[in-house]
Amino acid sequence: MSDLLTMLHDHDLPPKWDDRAVVWEGWEYAPSGVFICPAPKPDVCEGCGMPTMERGFPCWSTNKGLRADSTRLTLDDFHAEEAARARLPWRVQGKMPRHWWIELHAFRCHHCSLDSVWDTTSGGWWTLDHTDYGDDGSVAP
Ligand SMILES: [Zn+2]
Repeated sequence: MSDLLTMLHDHDLPPKWDDRAVVWEGWEYAPSGVFICPAPKPDVCEGCGMPTMERGFPCWSTNKGLRADSTRLTLDDFHAEEAARARLPWRVQGKMPRHWWIELHAFRCHHCSLDSVWDTTSGGWWTLDHTDYGDDGSVAP
């Protein structure tokens, strides 16, 4: 499942995307997620050539990324914002301004662990390589 480069990753997924901090919600194997976000997933994995669907079930896990709307925000800001929101009464929590948005969806192949990321704001698909897992995250070439 994991090769040497995978083990050398500083981060499980890029902590930044185009200079903006990203908070990943965590991996889930959820076929229902496919229907929530109908991303144009290719039929076979780019990394290993295995089919991305088997007997109607996806062969990948998904992870949603909340991206900051400013390059000035850090992960500490995210946790402070979440803590402040949690202290509010439930019915006004939604009125607090948000600075983090689910804009990225990561997909990890169950066969070779290749990560692809779908940027919903640009509609682009990105296949990650080991340089994307450093502290600077993924930056446009
Ligand atoms: Zn694969």
